Amino acid sequence: MPRHKNATKVARAIDKTFRALRTADEPFFAESDFWCCQSCGCAGVPSDRPRYAFYHEQDKENLNRTGRCNIAWGDTPEHGERIAQAMRDNGLSVEWDGTESKRITVFLPED
Ligand SMILES: [Zn+2]
Repeated sequence: MPRHKNATKVARAIDKTFRALRTADEPFFAESDFWCCQSCGCAGVPSDRPRYAFYHEQDKENLNRTGRCNIAWGDTPEHGERIAQAMRDNGLSVEWDGTESKRITVFLPED
């Protein structure tokens, strides 16, 4: 499977965004390549950390193939918007409908 040309850049921008979210005034739990899938990842977020963002191993495989990554997150739309804005601040484009039922998709604007 050929690796998408943007995969490494997108992964680096997500790492940078997650670092910023972890060290924010109101910090998030934020991890790249966190567990194997959505259910294990959600179960792996510490229960005392309601604000979180992560992508898992299957998301990483999709990112490598497509240059796009889905971010799982919690817990209110306001937190989702903080994550989306932090992604934009690190040069990523964001696709998200603003609701809690949808994951946040990030990619590079030129793609
Ligand atoms: Zn799993």
